[in-house]
Amino acid sequence: MLNADEIAGILKQQIANARIETRQDEVGTVIEVGDSIARVYGLTAVKMMELVQFPNGLLGIALNLEEDNVGVVVMGPDSAIREGDTVRRTGRIVSVPVGDAVIGRVIDPLGQPLDDKGPVTTTRTRPIETQAPSVVQRQPVSQPLQTGIKAIDGLVPIGKGQRELIIGDRQTGKTALALDAILNQKGKNVICIYVAIGQKTSTVAQTYKILTDAGAMDYTTIVAANAADPASLRYIAPYAGCAMGQELMYAGRDVLIIYDDLSKHAQAYREISLVLRRPPGREAYPGDIFYLHSRLLERAAKLSDDLGAGSMTALPVIETQQGDVSAYIPTNLISITDGQIYLETGLFYSGIRPAIDVGLSVSRVGGAAQTKAMKSVAGQLRLELSQYRDLAAFSKLASDLDKATQAQLSRGEKITETLKQPQFDPLSLEQEVLQLYVAVNDYLADVPNERISQFHRQFYEFLQTAHPQIPQTIAERKELPAETKTALDAAIVEFKKRF
Ligand code: ATP
Ligand code: MG
Repeated sequence: MLNADEIAGILKQQIANARIETRQDEVGTVIEVGDSIARVYGLTAVKMMELVQFPNGLLGIALNLEEDNVGVVVMGPDSAIREGDTVRRTGRIVSVPVGDAVIGRVIDPLGQPLDDKGPVTTTRTRPIETQAPSVVQRQPVSQPLQTGIKAIDGLVPIGKGQRELIIGDRQTGKTALALDAILNQKGKNVICIYVAIGQKTSTVAQTYKILTDAGAMDYTTIVAANAADPASLRYIAPYAGCAMGQELMYAGRDVLIIYDDLSKHAQAYREISLVLRRPPGREAYPGDIFYLHSRLLERAAKLSDDLGAGSMTALPVIETQQGDVSAYIPTNLISITDGQIYLETGLFYSGIRPAIDVGLSVSRVGGAAQTKAMKSVAGQLRLELSQYRDLAAFSKLASDLDKATQAQLSRGEKITETLKQPQFDPLSLEQEVLQLYVAVNDYLADVPNERISQFHRQFYEFLQTAHPQIPQTIAERKELPAETKTALDAAIVEFKKRF
């Protein structure tokens, strides 16, 4: 006799077993491994950018989802992985710890600590790849982000939420500009994230020391994937840093993020793509290299008031070869960003530091965010400098110059001299405005070039003791009212008598 209950029981059991069998796709087998890439058979349900685990606990990221196998980049040495090893899905998309716990820390792109302050203790995490804010979630850039560097705040102003490229050959002071911008955020309620990609460990250690000594680590996170780290870590580093920034931005705070540098990031991605056998394109980069950087930089934004009006300002760094800004990666980034600060080797070695090429550097949105005080002096500055450059080139050919031309050349020289600034010496808004005011209004005509920096320093000291209300007004009202201007003119004349 057949018992209906018995049949039903067997059927139920089979259904239950069938479910277990379908879970086979949670586990795969390594069919090939090498160059930090493992090809895995069987992980049919794995998601793009999902973390998978190898038997020895090593993690990998599923990057290539092909018909019959999955290309996994191994996040560590692949020598311990063998053919036939089992690979498990974790179900987690690559994510990093975020929030206040990472501020002040040096971590790798997976959130592991690289400093000696113990594990990062937080339960808050964020996937490293997310959608950028949409059109309605943003608002135009309208507030200045002071970098403390005269030439930048005056000529290529940066606003909160802007993406400004720092571009130049090797050893032209790119990192120096970025670090000065971080130092200048002290006490300004801006959280900074410095993403070091493919740099020497010793360089990152030095950066950490500089920031610590200046007290800037209180509001800064360093995310580092160094030159010796696997390409996979260098590839995800900027996204990891960006996720940390986004968490703070969506919490209504202001963030400054620096990617130093994206040339090495592109190279890491090219390395991965080539071993994954993706077809190489121009300069052997894969076809989606533009998207690699655009999706990263689009995540920097000034959020709408409804979303808390937080912001993330991005300063990506790009290294050029022999000043070639028309190479593949530089042109891509120039078109993605809202402007660029171009550093030039010739200027750097002729002693003009920061070596900003005023003609090639632009800020497409920052002008809207410049303070009134800065605008009142900087408008003239750009014009003066461009006229000076034309004249200087021309005057090399001419022997006799008339008085007016000589005066203009000399004024250009004084302005150029004024724009020089040593490293690790960011200036306050009022200092910048005062120095530029003195320069563009021709008060330096009779000051020898080598005494100009001394003039500016002593004049500021003089103002603070004799006329403290002048710098104070500029600092508080962020503009240069007519009566302050008159007082300032008088103060300069007074100071020049004793200088
Ligand atoms: P790399 O290509 O190696 O990353 P970089 O473009 O980031 O170089 P930095 O490391 O910032 O350049 O600077 C190169 C050198 O120039 C450093 O020794 C630095 O101290 C010096 N330097 C940078 N800016 C200035 C400055 N404003 N005044 C004086 N020296 C500077
Ligand atoms: Mg550098």
